Amino acid sequence: MTTIADRLSLAQSRITQAAEKCARNPKEIKLLAVSKTKPIEQIIAAYEAGQRSFGENYVQEGEEKVNALRQSHSDIVWHFIGPLQSNKSRIVAENFDWMHTLSREKIAFRLNEQRPKNMVPLKVCIQVNISNEASKSGIPTSEVMALAQTISQLPSLDLKGVMAIPTATDDIELQHSEFAALKAIYDELKCQYPSVDTLSMGMSQDLEQAIANGSTMVRIGSAIFGARN
Ligand SMILES: *Cc1c(COP(=O)(O)O)cnc(C)c1O
Repeated sequence: MTTIADRLSLAQSRITQAAEKCARNPKEIKLLAVSKTKPIEQIIAAYEAGQRSFGENYVQEGEEKVNALRQSHSDIVWHFIGPLQSNKSRIVAENFDWMHTLSREKIAFRLNEQRPKNMVPLKVCIQVNISNEASKSGIPTSEVMALAQTISQLPSLDLKGVMAIPTATDDIELQHSEFAALKAIYDELKCQYPSVDTLSMGMSQDLEQAIANGSTMVRIGSAIFGARN
């Protein structure tokens, strides 16, 4: 039987191999363990195997886990990676270290106001709709620079980069063109804002492609914790 520690180490070797294949330093690529729907015990198992960054999609579930582990595992870095309704923004502002799915000015203003003053600024990525599918969340590429400008003026937010969830596809060309589009936006942002260092793209199925296209943070769920119900 494979354990979470085994699967974590397998995910790490996939990252290393993918980086080396395109002559990148594997250290440039961070692994975010996506623990949504999985119990606290599995987070602790990954923690004990050395993992420190965890991603959650659901506000309430995330809040419960953060609270349960706040004292005992205080060096966990919590990333919110799910869709956020504005009436739940306070929970993210008060409990998380990172927010990957910022795509509306209104939510940026709320998070900035609600971030407790005794905490470091909330690190944020702008979620970009690179697939142009009506159903997908994220801001259109043409509006990214304007939102970045707004965020950069909010003292309790720290602009770190961009994130996207590409079209689920076996079409390598399409996948490549979407990753490359996000990378181009990332490069443009990085030129203007020195705080920008995070290109959040790649999941269990496509982390190799994402790394080949410049990803600096892969969000891995099922390859570490197993399939979700
Ligand atoms: C669930 C999820 C992941 C992880 O997906 P896997 O395919 O299980 O690796 C990554 N990013 C986001 C935004 C997710 O919702």
